[in-house]
Amino acid sequence: MPQDAYYSPEIETMERSDLDALIDERVRYTVQYAADHSPFYRNWFRENRIDPAKIRVHEDLLNLPVISGKTIRQHQPPVTTEFEFLSTDWNEVFSIQETSGTSGTPKGFFLTWDDWKRYAEKYDRSFVSQGFSDKDRIVVCASYGMNVGANTMTIAAQRIGMGIIPIGKCTFESRILKNYKPTAIVGSVFKLLRLARRLSAEGIKPSDTSINKLVTGGEAFADESRAYLSHVWEVPVYNTYGSTEGTMCGECTRITGLHVPEDLVHLDVYDPQMQSFVKDGDCGRGVLTTLLPVGGKCGMLLINYDTEDTTVVLSRERCGCGRTHMRIVNPQREAETIWLFENPFNRVDIESAVFQHQNMEYLTGEYEAYVCVGDKPGKTVLRVNLECFDPDHCDRHLVEDQFVTRFLKYKSMIAEHYHDQTFTIEFNFTAPRGLDFYTQKGRPKRLVDRRGN
Ligand SMILES: [Zn+2]
Repeated sequence: MPQDAYYSPEIETMERSDLDALIDERVRYTVQYAADHSPFYRNWFRENRIDPAKIRVHEDLLNLPVISGKTIRQHQPPVTTEFEFLSTDWNEVFSIQETSGTSGTPKGFFLTWDDWKRYAEKYDRSFVSQGFSDKDRIVVCASYGMNVGANTMTIAAQRIGMGIIPIGKCTFESRILKNYKPTAIVGSVFKLLRLARRLSAEGIKPSDTSINKLVTGGEAFADESRAYLSHVWEVPVYNTYGSTEGTMCGECTRITGLHVPEDLVHLDVYDPQMQSFVKDGDCGRGVLTTLLPVGGKCGMLLINYDTEDTTVVLSRERCGCGRTHMRIVNPQREAETIWLFENPFNRVDIESAVFQHQNMEYLTGEYEAYVCVGDKPGKTVLRVNLECFDPDHCDRHLVEDQFVTRFLKYKSMIAEHYHDQTFTIEFNFTAPRGLDFYTQKGRPKRLVDRRGN
């Protein structure tokens, strides 16, 4: 194993006590900066009777209210005349971005060039921790739109000296791989799987291409689907978790959780009532706070912003890679969690069950699931549609058994109802492109609650 490389070694390997002191210093500066420059926060502190000078350490953030995407929407046009989160002069704004909001008006985001550099720094650390260097040439499949992801990666690549192929989608022609010989691709798990299937159909083995690692991001996924993707391409797959709001966390080559760049973004994990922090190791709601270096300026910052994702702090101990920044579990969308018989389950739980190793001889991995009311009162049905390479040559019993065993594994209440048959699982095996979501626009809806209450 070669010596681990770092993009910013002093910061990334800083002792915990020094790192905590740096975080606290930046919390104080950022809170004061918000009070001085952001109309929203100026009012917020006043309305909540909070003296910004009293926020001294990161634990003090618990005394401040939590805001959400809705809060941002309520403080920007058309609701208000100005963008109240804007925290600099318009002439300092280098770019205006929007979040690819799933509901309502997109949220406006304002970035100065310094903001871009800090965003890129997060991806630089992540890329270097995944073994990227100036020898790499990377195909970016993330879209170059109003969100920051693909552009941030591109700026980050320049700073590392990497080559970039900014295609912006995973549906590119195979000549891109053949002719330019990139070493890596950034894309979502499902898009990279589809790309592999397309290559195979053209007679190209994904593992015979020049690709030596994959970087995924954009959505939560199951360990099983990552393992399958890694198996298909025969390369390591590293995860990233990023958002226009400024979380950009990446897995290092140890794959032991996502490192949070703690000096640039502070992440707290809250209990479901959003009243207190949960212990490390417990699952809760991720709440982020932008951290500015002392003297820094920014176009827009967020304090106590509810990401609406759930996660777990795995460790604040030094990682095998030498980094001290804390590691978290791949966050899951709260909106993709359904409660059933007092057990929560997420889309990712369905995905784990689909991607069981033996299933993948028959399944493409594409799926969709619906929770429905059963034919008798008190009954609930999970309808699972699975795409097969060939429905006529699929060991359905095996797939069903594998699915059910994995799905019920950590859900004792759901399992109890399954055994007394008040909860049933129905399977439907389709041919390629036979799933419902292919006929719908936008991001596939893979788990839908149709109980309608
Ligand atoms: Zn690490």
